[in-house]
Amino acid sequence: MSSSSQSLYRKWRSQTFGDLVGQEPVIRTLKNALSSGKLAHAYLFTGPRGTGKTSTARLLAKTINCSAPVNGEPCNVCEQCREITAGNSFNVIEIDAASNRGIDSVRDLREKVMMPPSTGKYKVYVLDEAHMLTTEAFNALLKTLEEPPPYVVFVLATTDVHKMLPTVLSRCQRFDFKRITTRQIVEHVEYVAGQEDVRIERSAAELIARAAAGGMRDALSLLDQAIAYSGNEIMLAQVQAMLGVADPRAIQKLIMHVSELDSAAVLHLIHELSGLELTCVNSTSRLENTGAR
Ligand SMILES: [Zn+2]
Repeated sequence: MSSSSQSLYRKWRSQTFGDLVGQEPVIRTLKNALSSGKLAHAYLFTGPRGTGKTSTARLLAKTINCSAPVNGEPCNVCEQCREITAGNSFNVIEIDAASNRGIDSVRDLREKVMMPPSTGKYKVYVLDEAHMLTTEAFNALLKTLEEPPPYVVFVLATTDVHKMLPTVLSRCQRFDFKRITTRQIVEHVEYVAGQEDVRIERSAAELIARAAAGGMRDALSLLDQAIAYSGNEIMLAQVQAMLGVADPRAIQKLIMHVSELDSAAVLHLIHELSGLELTCVNSTSRLENTGAR
């Protein structure tokens, strides 16, 4: 079992850019810029949920506040690094734009931005779900985005870039995060399981990776569930039952019976599958409901 109540995603959050799985082009560009001292004052991170946008924002905050960065990577030893890793740094301010979407929140933010950091060099404001801000709020933010105080960096993170105002997009340096490949997710799920002393069948890790549809956060949240469900040995059948997906062989059989117009066999198989309380289609809402952040 995982040793603490902390979610695996939090526990195994990348602490260097090198550790971040599946976003190589973004990371390469960002690291090169940071190691040559080119820092934008506003970034836009777009891409599907759970693909590393917030983790990257934290790594960015860490690297620019680190007292001894190496080749665009944070040292993870200095006080700034350690505070950011622990999640109690005053220099990383994460704002959920979905629940702070109005003009008052932005006015409040504009005031706070004027306060320089008491330790470290930069304050990094991460606006998660940035597309949720109202147009009015966006407009109130424009001037600050364009000319923030020199010690402020904004990271706007969004899954829905098409909902962002062009005036906002034009003020940010944009990075597109991609869905992580199934192979990379499988490898990482196996790695984390290994670190947690959990044995997982390759086919079970593959099913988790496919269900996560390119999002590492969902994959590790499913691994969390699988450990809670199965303990230290995770087999394919357990993950299938957990996800409510039928064995693909049963589905193939079902298709075969349908194509042969063998209604008795079709009904029998459906009866069997429903007896197992399985559904043939894996619902994505299941993932939405895992609630991992
Ligand atoms: Zn450091």
